[in-house]
Amino acid sequence: MSRTPESVWSSVLNIIRDNISEQSFKTWFEPILPVELKNNVLTIQVPSQFFYEWLEEHYVSLLRKTLQRELGADARLEYRIVVENSDVNKGPYTVEYPNYNTGNTKNQESTVPLVVGTQIKNPFIIPGLKKVNIDSQLKSSFNFDNFIEGDCNRLARSAGYAVAQKPAGTAFNPLVLFGGVGLGKTHLAQAIGNEIKRHYGNKTVLYVTSDKFTNQFIDALKNNAINDFVHFYQLIDVLIMDDIQFFANKLKTQDIFFHIFNHLHQNGKQLIMTSDRPPRDLEGMEERLLSRFRWGLSADLQQPDFETRIAILEKKMYSDGIELSRDVIEFVAYNINSNVRELEGALISLLAQSSLNNKEVDLDLAKKIIKNFVKSVSREVSIDYIQKTVCEFFEVPQDQLKEKTRKRAIVQARQLSMFLAKSYTKNSLKVIGKHFGGRDHSTVIHSCQAVQNLIDTDLDFKEQVDEIEKKIQMSIG
Ligand code: ADP
Ligand code: MG
Repeated sequence: MSRTPESVWSSVLNIIRDNISEQSFKTWFEPILPVELKNNVLTIQVPSQFFYEWLEEHYVSLLRKTLQRELGADARLEYRIVVENSDVNKGPYTVEYPNYNTGNTKNQESTVPLVVGTQIKNPFIIPGLKKVNIDSQLKSSFNFDNFIEGDCNRLARSAGYAVAQKPAGTAFNPLVLFGGVGLGKTHLAQAIGNEIKRHYGNKTVLYVTSDKFTNQFIDALKNNAINDFVHFYQLIDVLIMDDIQFFANKLKTQDIFFHIFNHLHQNGKQLIMTSDRPPRDLEGMEERLLSRFRWGLSADLQQPDFETRIAILEKKMYSDGIELSRDVIEFVAYNINSNVRELEGALISLLAQSSLNNKEVDLDLAKKIIKNFVKSVSREVSIDYIQKTVCEFFEVPQDQLKEKTRKRAIVQARQLSMFLAKSYTKNSLKVIGKHFGGRDHSTVIHSCQAVQNLIDTDLDFKEQVDEIEKKIQMSIG
């Protein structure tokens, strides 16, 4: 009894259909054409190299069992991969598919060249895709020049810079940039992309968020366009995938990304990824994907310190052509320390308010506006904090304020601290005295008078007091 390839395949399909989801069946089995049956070898035609790999990876045992059921234990399957409408026209490409019973099939991978046709749909919807036409989706305003360096980002920045000079030519592949929200991951990742484009006009750079990638993948599934989707991504020389934490628990998307990742990496392409946490803390991610991330370098971005925050604000002001007094800058930098995005938000609010009221931004206005940004608005300042601030300023040890010492510097710091405690806290004179080694209320009164006299007569001293008061006010907001 001789059977046709069609009849064997249709029996195979009937069984497979019952074993997998309808969507998977449509995507991965409907496009297959049976082409030949000879000596118990069934040849099927698949649309692409990727398609073949996918079948191999996901359906190999199902296919094996089903085919053996139809044709017996010595059944074999061969693939023929269609090369779409290619410039490099090599015609249909046949993959010798080894006997199921001997197991390993992966050795075929390297012998099958990926030839990409010209008809691939770009999920970014740019018709008439040619490789050179792929828009990188980068914002040119994110560059290295305006990415301020600080201790918080030094490693990430310099690794990023190295990658930008030599894409795929460093050990940092993939480069994973991680850190909390608003700390510059997107900025830095895009800066790398922009820098590569500047140096290497012929490299195809693509920036995409993992969210967008996921949606494109789902669309591709719906439209039976997985091949186009994957081929498109396989064209990329430098792939920047932003916010990979959103891949969590999306196993199919991870699967496809894994595939693309491998293809690109094997072909000497650069991968850059960002994540809001270190790769080891990513939950809902397949281990094999996480292990890929460890191949390169993971570098973190931390919260910028005070000086870096000032530098960032100054850079922003400069590039926006605006001016704010040093007071205001320091005040903003001092009070907003969570992340750079909030820092920028504060700056924008200041400018908006000032142009709305047609008023220059002075410290008072800044205080009013920044209040909205800082969670604990009117933190009551403590006597201890005042003592600490004063002692830091005069560089004297704080515990000396409670001693009997009559050294001039200590006495001055002690009296001034009492004076400030009286103006900035609601504590009674008695309580204030207690905080200074149990002095009585008349000592506090005397101290306050002494300080007031000095302020009225000694300009240098007055300036020092102003300076300290500024620090205290900042902490109150
Ligand atoms: P993330 O992606 O980590 O959430 P972004 O890259 O979107 O953060 O950064 C938030 C904002 O802060 C952006 O406008 C970015 O330009 C700015 N920014 C972050 N870090 C720096 C830096 N080191 N120098 C200058 N601007 C920065
Ligand atoms: Mg981001």
